[in-house]
Amino acid sequence: MSSTDLRTVPAQVGAPIVELASPLVGGAAARTHAGTAGLSLTEADRSETFTMVRAGDLGSVHSWELVTAVDGPGTRLTTFLAGCPLRCLYCHNPDTMEMRRGDPVLAEEVLGRLSRYRAIFKATGGGLTVSGGEPLMQPAFVRRLLRGAKELGIHTAIDTSGFLGASASDEMLDDVDLVLLDVKSGLPETYRRVTGRDLQPTLDFGARLAERGIEIWIRFVLVPGLTDEVANVAAVADYVATLSTVTRVEVLPFHQMGRDKWASLGMTYELGDTPAPTPELVERVRGQFRERGLQVY
Ligand code: SF4
Repeated sequence: MSSTDLRTVPAQVGAPIVELASPLVGGAAARTHAGTAGLSLTEADRSETFTMVRAGDLGSVHSWELVTAVDGPGTRLTTFLAGCPLRCLYCHNPDTMEMRRGDPVLAEEVLGRLSRYRAIFKATGGGLTVSGGEPLMQPAFVRRLLRGAKELGIHTAIDTSGFLGASASDEMLDDVDLVLLDVKSGLPETYRRVTGRDLQPTLDFGARLAERGIEIWIRFVLVPGLTDEVANVAAVADYVATLSTVTRVEVLPFHQMGRDKWASLGMTYELGDTPAPTPELVERVRGQFRERGLQVY
């Protein structure tokens, strides 16, 4: 995530659009968690299900939300996919980290719903945002959703950390209008402390997007004592200033609203004593981006 860095996503299975997330393979009584796809299968369905997953016809979805003024322009259907390779200390939706916590949903079902909102998207300049979790953990499914949305004439966005950017094919990117790119830190060692992973794939992905002329919105979560160092922010801002297609930078002040989810999942939350950033700190960091000529929110 993603936009869900600091936005608590709907309770699993989807709040406003419950029927989309109904199990589509096997009945509830027969469901077991199976394998890497994290989908719930019966033995008899297993082979067909994996074929559908590989083809992008079926994905593991955490939840859905119809939103305005977040996750891209206009009113958007944000689809939160399950599964993420990062382990951000501040993650507000740790229940999206594991793909097995998602529900199997057909791409057709998502696209059917999308089609019904077409008039709203057109009126507001909105569209589809595929978020997570990390959407690029399910590249075939994402590619299918993006292609289907474009065939419907709908604006598309993906919300990603970029860590799995190499999984996004050029064909997939041809169907992406906007990438919400979460740059979680600018210094490699800080990035690793925050996420448990390497920074370089994100940097490479952002450069690739800019080369392809794809619009980027940058997101940076400001956490006192973790990401707020002047040098760390400067490294993010210097990098972002090299990306010619960035039209917006969002500095997201850390807050504690997601902490209870960690406990409910039996996971250790390390930021329990971390305060929200002061207005002065937020302004300093936004200023570091503005100094490089960037449009900051
Ligand atoms: S762990 Fe994954 S889902 Fe959570 S904030 Fe990080 S990138 Fe987003």
